[in-house]
Amino acid sequence: MVAMQTPIEALLEEGRKFAPGEAFIQQANVKDHSIYEKAKQDLEGFWAEQAEQFVWFKKWDEVLKWECPWAQWFVGGELNITVNCIDRHLKTWRRNKAAFIWEGEPGEERVLTYADLHREVCKFANVLKRLGVMKGDRVALYLPMIPELPIAMLACARIGAPHTIVFGGFSAESLRDRINDAQAKVLVTADGGWRRGNIVPLKRNADEAVSQCPSIEQVVVVHRGVMDATHVPLHEGRDHWWHRLMEEAPLHCEPEPVDSEHPLYILYTSGTTAKPKGVVHTTAGYMVGCAATHRWIFDLKEEDVYWCTADIGWVTGHSYIVYGPLANGTTGVMYEGSPDYPAWDRWWSIIEKYGVTVLYTTPTAIRAFMRQGEGHPRRHDLSSLRLLGTVGEPINPEAWMWYREHIGGARCPVVDTWWQTETGMILISPLPGVTTTKPGSATTPFPGVEADVVDEQGRSVPLGGGGYLVLKKPWPAMLRTLYGDPDRYVQIYWSRFPGMYFTGDGCKRDKEGYFWLLGRVDDVMNVSGHRISTMEVESALVYHPDVAEAAVTGKAHDVKGQAITAFVTLKAGVQGTQEKVDELKKHVATKIGPLARPDDIFFTAELPKTRSGKIMRRLLRDIAEGRALGDTTTLADPTAVQHLREMYEEQEA
Ligand code: AMP
Repeated sequence: MVAMQTPIEALLEEGRKFAPGEAFIQQANVKDHSIYEKAKQDLEGFWAEQAEQFVWFKKWDEVLKWECPWAQWFVGGELNITVNCIDRHLKTWRRNKAAFIWEGEPGEERVLTYADLHREVCKFANVLKRLGVMKGDRVALYLPMIPELPIAMLACARIGAPHTIVFGGFSAESLRDRINDAQAKVLVTADGGWRRGNIVPLKRNADEAVSQCPSIEQVVVVHRGVMDATHVPLHEGRDHWWHRLMEEAPLHCEPEPVDSEHPLYILYTSGTTAKPKGVVHTTAGYMVGCAATHRWIFDLKEEDVYWCTADIGWVTGHSYIVYGPLANGTTGVMYEGSPDYPAWDRWWSIIEKYGVTVLYTTPTAIRAFMRQGEGHPRRHDLSSLRLLGTVGEPINPEAWMWYREHIGGARCPVVDTWWQTETGMILISPLPGVTTTKPGSATTPFPGVEADVVDEQGRSVPLGGGGYLVLKKPWPAMLRTLYGDPDRYVQIYWSRFPGMYFTGDGCKRDKEGYFWLLGRVDDVMNVSGHRISTMEVESALVYHPDVAEAAVTGKAHDVKGQAITAFVTLKAGVQGTQEKVDELKKHVATKIGPLARPDDIFFTAELPKTRSGKIMRRLLRDIAEGRALGDTTTLADPTAVQHLREMYEEQEA
């Protein structure tokens, strides 16, 4: 029933268990199970207690208004998230505590204290106002991992303008589509960024995108310094240097009071159609959910040096580099570049240099490091680490064990955290002072989260069985809608099983009730922890003048989780040469971004289709992964797929 990418039966036989150590429990933020009971008995009271810790301009009247599938949290409340992430700390000793310790790929360092952050955010908020941005207007951010990115996000939040961040690895076309969907008024970008010693041409992509984005009125350009400023073309009347605007900006900016349910941001994520989904997160519930999960799951302490290696362009960066950590007054490390630049020990040198205590990264990165061997981490003193986290895709037990032993020195708890762009906050994860972990399992739902595994009919599957992962109660950081498309929100998440949120993930529970995530059950691939829909890549391929038809599937990959394999039917008379393969790979990378570049492209005269014309990706996956072919009875022409397999094997050889 569920498309399996992980040999789950093998996983469930995983017998290793790691109970929290006595010393860890002693100091843990959560020391026993009572928190689960408390949340179960009074969900609203549980979250209200968390919300009490923040500064409100006006307190809420009602904790939760739930008219499935429409949720409102802290109804009637008014606040500003930047007051809670920044101003609140200025009245304490945290005023001069580092909020961010930043390192650029070429090696520069910059430290921003909470007071520095406040000043920069206020100034940029004033810049945005001067450019005509008003409460409710959308601002697009297309930046590298530099301090100006969180500054710009928070500046938007300060004036109540929802931001929409487009990951710097996305192409001009992806940027254009997202800007147009969000109807953003201002774009903030940079001359470029550094990645593995190469320049990422952000301004060039932005210019290409903006030429087809009528909603954009002004563009602000950060001079990251990858190019000489005189070589960066500025469009008269539209483009402005960030540093020039900031020179004249006043230091003070009153925070705009916004309603609890005011949209904080829109973040686009892949769906099963080519059109990305604009996930809308609002203010109060999101803040409360991110802060609590961050404090408890990462056992965050005042003295911690916390490093989440994600790019802020993904939801992990939004929730666990910016909003959650700052709400908790954390010191966070931010690194601009690639993990293997100039060598494979870059991350370990960063941990040693800044004394990182908590590290949050992805299974893809861990597997890539495993391939390079233990020598790299061994050359560095990693003894400052005390807790490790992972996110983004299922982690295989070997990678989990390697992470624990070679990075965590067998002394750090490992928290495997399951969540999604839509969920806004972590929903399934160990609490490190409480949960006995099993390598490869995200363990159990966070307090107050009601997750279940159901069958095709939506009936709960008994422990030991597998099915679809659903959520049965609202949680504060949940998405509220899809931007401009509430019907699609209802259809995608709330129609499969009435009254339940459908995650799109397959999951199995063992006899002890531990959750073992299996990956996506729809047509979305998970490449290096990032969702890319098969449709997006197919659309890009058929856009090429030589391509008649294309079908794309994810294939299990040691490092990336899934690699993209494309089956392409060329137009008559076009030769399927190696040059054509390279050209098409490049074409996809330009259309969508380098992440979406297929690893393999195979040419075929025909694609396996059902009688209704739907391409059977399941069979393509079987072919790509060398498995026996599944049920072929619904195929219009069952011989075609056999023929395809023979061709595939021939081309691969
Ligand atoms: P995204 O919204 O792009 O962050 O992707 C969310 C998807 O990533 C989920 O629906 C899962 O398929 C996968 N995912 C995230 N975290 C985990 C995890 N800890 N274990 C297994 N899969 C995960």
